Amino acid sequence: MPPPKIAKRSSPENGPPRAPWVRVVLISDTHLRPFPVPEGDVLVHAGDMTLRGSLAEVREFASWFLGLRHPHKVLIAGNHDFAFEDHPAEARALVAGAVYLQDSLAEVAGLRIWGAPWQPRFGDWAFNLDRGAPLRAKWSLIPEGLDVLVTHGPPEGIGDRTAAGLSVGCADLKDAVRRTRPRVHVFGHIHEGYGVVEDHGTTYVNASICNLQYRPTNTPVLLDV
Ligand code: 5GP
Ligand code: MN
Ligand code: MN
Repeated sequence: MPPPKIAKRSSPENGPPRAPWVRVVLISDTHLRPFPVPEGDVLVHAGDMTLRGSLAEVREFASWFLGLRHPHKVLIAGNHDFAFEDHPAEARALVAGAVYLQDSLAEVAGLRIWGAPWQPRFGDWAFNLDRGAPLRAKWSLIPEGLDVLVTHGPPEGIGDRTAAGLSVGCADLKDAVRRTRPRVHVFGHIHEGYGVVEDHGTTYVNASICNLQYRPTNTPVLLDV
């Protein structure tokens, strides 16, 4: 099956399109599994680049990711990527050829992009925070006027349904996205939630490449923004 292609021209909520367009390639939850990545201007990875989160795994990821041809690369950590929590300077240095975001903003190829790794606590993983005030404090940092918001976890209600049928996304993230109205919100984490949803001028993308068995069965999502 060819990768889904979505030409995002304009919507009333988002105003007119910019020229020239920027082709954004969205991936998440690659977990060190090889898969083909289509060309584009900006490659965005929404976390879970590793399996166990060691610096050696981050180095292995970086040797693949930084070698891809995309002129701009942006990434955040996920709950598997412990090195970015435990050895932040060393982990960030390994991906220095890309823009690493952690509650921070970058302007990349003319796009305003914010990234944040946090997700609701589930077991004892990296960047876990309790629902309610702790997560709300992180989402309160998200600015308005974004082209792309990158988080590891989904908002409540979109791309967040587990195989068991539970909606496990973050309600406070949902509120923050509705408040800040980014053009695109990309995330992963709930592998079985892969897909694209348009709502109120925001394109929500669960870009999980791996399925529940950590096999790379899904294709990258392409957006022209
Ligand atoms: P990962 O370990 O790669 O972060 O997540 C893999 C899978 O674990 C997800 O696709 C989902 O099935 C499950 N999972 C991750 N986080 C949660 C959570 O907060 N609640 C539940 N019920 N399942 C989760
Ligand atoms: Mn994952
Ligand atoms: Mn995850």
